[in-house]
Amino acid sequence: MSLFDRAELAPADPILGLTEAYNADTRPEKVNLGVGVYLGEDGKLPLMEAVRAAEERITQQRRAKAYLGIDGMPAYRDAVRELIFGADSSALADARVATVQSLGGTGALKIGADLLRQLSPEATVLISNPSWENHRALFTRAGFDVETYRYYDAGIKGIDFDGMLEDLRAAEPGTVVVLHACCHNPTGYDLGSEQWDAVIEVLAERQLIPFLDMAYQGFGFGIEEDGAVVAKFVDSGLNFLLSTSYSKSFSLYGERIGSLSVVLDSAESAKKVLSQLKIVIRTNYSNPPTEGAALVTTVLTDPDLRQSWEDELGAMRERIKDLRKGLVDGLASRGITDMGFIAEQLGMFSYSGLTKEQMVALRTEHGVYGLDSGRMCVAALNTGNLDYVADAIAAVRA
Ligand code: PMP
Repeated sequence: MSLFDRAELAPADPILGLTEAYNADTRPEKVNLGVGVYLGEDGKLPLMEAVRAAEERITQQRRAKAYLGIDGMPAYRDAVRELIFGADSSALADARVATVQSLGGTGALKIGADLLRQLSPEATVLISNPSWENHRALFTRAGFDVETYRYYDAGIKGIDFDGMLEDLRAAEPGTVVVLHACCHNPTGYDLGSEQWDAVIEVLAERQLIPFLDMAYQGFGFGIEEDGAVVAKFVDSGLNFLLSTSYSKSFSLYGERIGSLSVVLDSAESAKKVLSQLKIVIRTNYSNPPTEGAALVTTVLTDPDLRQSWEDELGAMRERIKDLRKGLVDGLASRGITDMGFIAEQLGMFSYSGLTKEQMVALRTEHGVYGLDSGRMCVAALNTGNLDYVADAIAAVRA
């Protein structure tokens, strides 16, 4: 008997497993609304113009492939810190932010989770109900008990804000609270500015540890507008963690590029926390890869490329809004008038309100792949498949 006979067959990842099923589907009209990826009008993953230009420049430089530092490329860290916190952030001026380059948003969350586990092994982690599937798995795997705070209310198709505050008020001091900075995945419902203020007040009162996850900056209302939540946290004086991802906003999914920042009270604390983050990284993968960091840095620091990137990201954001509206109109013209909320949601996903049975029927009868929870990636729609999807939804709703 081999040691490895102890390994049981784990279930397929709920989202990536769906893509495997989609790939195996031979129907030409099939549509994948399962995975969170923005696709262009041609149904393909875009290579953003600024990224393409940056790639050309980097290739021309023919740089040797040296190791980066444990915490990543210094110019990258500076560039993303400016993007996240704003150039005149007091926290940056005071040098009280520890930032490391990460392997996408997932890598940032895991580094943060490992740091927290070391500093506070008994803490509970609270995630929203529902949340991105990997939040629970990742924090559980890091050794935490993971529980939820109320968030989505199916009855009102919105946020159960009183329930959320009540759950946060009931949390023990030291509890880690994972919050989606913008474009909540999977529901598409974000807190308003005053609601954020109220949440911050409770976090401070109850001495909770906020962990902001910002995987979609620029997909809600705009880069600065979406980043305003971060500024609120800085202004509050709270210590907090912040993970970011450039998978979606630069269409750099496979490069695995993101960042983790920890905002602290003093430069002294930032130095200590950074030294611990470096140990977490060193003992996991030693140091991060260069390409994604070089691309993001080149785009963010060159005024022309940056403008081009901001324009293209803005166009992606507006196009998703048009697709939402197109789907709502398409459904209305098929007699379904109670799904207008899809146009109000933000980001790449729509929580459609469809039941598990309806989602399974969409998949098996029509080849339209979404999650059993009803989550659909509206950013994978285009004018070529929108009518087909509207027909399919109308059929499973009939
Ligand atoms: N957090 C949330 C809320 C996400 O939706 C995602 C991506 N699906 C991530 C983190 C992870 O991002 P990445 O793909 O860059 O690891």
